[in-house]
This record gives sequence, C-alpha cells and structure tokens, in this order.
Amino acid sequence: MTGGTPGPPWSWVWGAPGPPRATRRRGGGRGERPAGHSRPTPPASGPAHPPPLYQAAGRWGTPRAAVRVGLLCRFAPPQLPAWPTAMATVVAQRLSHLLPSWRQAHQEPQPSGQPEPVFTVDRTQVPPLFWKPYVYAGYRPLHQTWRFYFRTLFQQHNEAVNVWTHLLAALALLLRLAIFVRSVDFWGDPHALPLFLIVLASFTYLSLSALAHLLQAKSEFWHYNFFFLDYVGVAVYQFGSALAHFYYAIEPAWHAQVQTVFLPLAAFLAWLSCTGSCYNKYIQKPGLLGRTCQEVPSALAYALDISPVVHRILVSPDPTTDDPALLYHKCQVVFFLLAAAFFSAFVPERWFPGSCHIFGQGHQVFHVFLVLCTLAQLEAVALDFEARRPIYEPLHTRWPHNFSGLFLLTVGSSVLTAFLLSQLVRRKLDQKTQ
Ligand SMILES: [Zn+2]
Repeated sequence: MTGGTPGPPWSWVWGAPGPPRATRRRGGGRGERPAGHSRPTPPASGPAHPPPLYQAAGRWGTPRAAVRVGLLCRFAPPQLPAWPTAMATVVAQRLSHLLPSWRQAHQEPQPSGQPEPVFTVDRTQVPPLFWKPYVYAGYRPLHQTWRFYFRTLFQQHNEAVNVWTHLLAALALLLRLAIFVRSVDFWGDPHALPLFLIVLASFTYLSLSALAHLLQAKSEFWHYNFFFLDYVGVAVYQFGSALAHFYYAIEPAWHAQVQTVFLPLAAFLAWLSCTGSCYNKYIQKPGLLGRTCQEVPSALAYALDISPVVHRILVSPDPTTDDPALLYHKCQVVFFLLAAAFFSAFVPERWFPGSCHIFGQGHQVFHVFLVLCTLAQLEAVALDFEARRPIYEPLHTRWPHNFSGLFLLTVGSSVLTAFLLSQLVRRKLDQKTQ
C-alpha cells in the first residue's frame, strides 16, 4: 500500500509499560481542538520522537496489579519474613509484563477516572491533502488500524456528521425498500425495475459516501481511493435518477423529443461526471480548473436528468393541480439547488473560522439537502409509478431492456476509471516517497 506505512499498534491506546504515572504530564493546550479531546504533551526531558500523539502510549500501561501487590507488601507486618515480599515483587513484575497484552487481547473497559484515548489531532499533524478550509482541529491521525477508523464512527471528529447524515439516510432507504416490497412486484412487473434501480442507486451513493468519509483518513492513498469510490456512487445515482425520471415522470411530448438519446447521453454524462470529479481530486488544483472538471459535467448531467421533471412542471396546466407527485418533484429540485449552493461555498465555516470543527460545515449542509432531495425524489417516483402507468406503459414497449445494459455500462466504466486514477495516485505517491 503506497503512502501507508504501518502505523503504531493499539499499544498507543492500551499501552506498553511506560514511565510511572506520577512522572507523566497531561493536557495539550496547543492549537484548537474540540472540547473533550486533549492531547498529552511529551515530558519536558523526553525525546523529540515519537510524535506527541504516541506519547499517549503507556498511559494505560501502568501495571495496577504490581501496584496493588506492592502496596500489600508495603503494609505487611514487619515480623513477616523477607521471602514473601521478594516473591510478591517477582510476581508483580511478571504480571506487569503480562497485563498489557492481556488487556490488548480482551479489550477490557478503561478504568474509570482515566483520560479518554486520543482520537483527533489538529491539522498541523496531518498532510495538507486532508485539510478542510477554515477547519483547524478534529482530524483523525493517519496510519492507524482499520478498526480504529471504524471505532471513530462513535467519536467526535470533523467527519462524523458527514458519515452519519448519509449512513442514517442509507438505513432509511432500506426501510423504504422493505415497504416497497409489500406493494410492488419487483420480480413479476417489468415496469418496476427502474424503481428498484433508483432505490439501489440511492443506497449505493449514500453508503459509499458514508464509507468514504469514515475511512478516508487512513492514509493519502486511501483518501484518494475512497473518494474515487464516492464519485462512482454519485455517477450511479445520476444514471438511476435519469432512468427513473425518463421512465415514470416524463410527459409523452418530451419523450418523443429525446427518447433516442436520453439514456445513452445520461450514461455518458454520469461517467464524465465521475471522471471529472476523480481527476479534480487527483490533480489537487483548487480554483477554476478543478471546479470546471468537477462541476461542469455534473451540472450538464443534472440538467439532462431533471429535464423530464422540469418539462412536466412547465407544461402542467394548473400549478395548484391535485398532483402530489409534482409537489414532491418540486421539492427535490429545490433541495438539490440548495445542496449545490452549499457544495463548494464553505459556508458557514467561512464566516466562523475555527468554530465548525464538529458541526456547521457547508459540506454537512450539502449532505442534508442531498438526502432530502433523494427522499423527496423517491416519493415522487413511487407516486408516479402507481398513478401514471397508463401514461408510461405505452412509452416503454419497444426498449424494455436497454436501460439495464446502460446501467451496468455506467457502473463498469466508472469503476474502471476510478481504478485507473487509483494507479496514477499510486505512482504519484511512489514518486513523492522516493
Ligand atoms: Zn460528502
């Protein structure tokens, strides 16, 4: 794994035997960090390396059993012979060596009154690749075990809200699918397949995004790769949206205009959007070039994918018509535009630099509006699936299976592109370390 040297084992949490507790110093105080996350500073006479984070190793390493046995010996009656004291000391020394590994194996709960393990560091301790604008603390250290990053699901850090917003939405989608299964015959009804695909595509992008935000801190190599996967999920969702709108929401007049090009073009733009996003992440060039690579293909894809809905809203005879699906469609458009506005504006953290380490980042707001967009979209599509069958069935008699192939093509081409960019990342990081 390039860029991922093996990190320190869990010993920094549970600890190898360290200096006596009385000689250690606690507390960080350097830089901004969220409440409840203190980083111990090294002893004044200690070495420059390992870095301060790993000075936490050994905080848990004091052999309590040795202390207890030592206390027993200390208060032993003076008339006792010397050999029990010597034997107790030997036993205590043996236990002091065994205890840390026993703790490591059984992961026993921490003793009460002890400081919490260090899960976050400030941004001076991670490479600039990981820096978020206006966010100076709450970063997770690199090169820990995978288990460490999974455990941070339940810790406060500057990606926690991004993880949970999409994780909870993915779970909500599974519940929604369970409700769909009661009323929709996904196996027997050929017109139900696009409905299944939009649910699957939504679940894919939400779960890959949650995974990316949770695990990207592992190393530079994995940071790139998890966000490439995130972009694959977005491309899959883009094509799923295009398919659902084209299949259920479209008006016959717009269908007649675009039927030959709509889905192939949607598949191409989804792939282009994935490629542009991956390339923007790879080149790491903030500014007009990077934004053009990522945002122009995404905007084009959205313009095409939402066009059946916009056309339907425009030609709707009465804005107050009794069509709940149209109301949900309007909501999904508004939520998407709000999400897009927050995507790269870095608002509100721009207005409160250093105050949005855990909550209040623009990307979190973007996630919330995107989830609301997806939920509104699913309700709209479900209502269209039920109510518009007389309209969409005649439209889709000739090309019933083409969309499945295009869906797989979108997935395959996006995964392949992400893989190729991953190889370029490996080469770039190799050159950096040589
Ligand atoms: Zn995100």
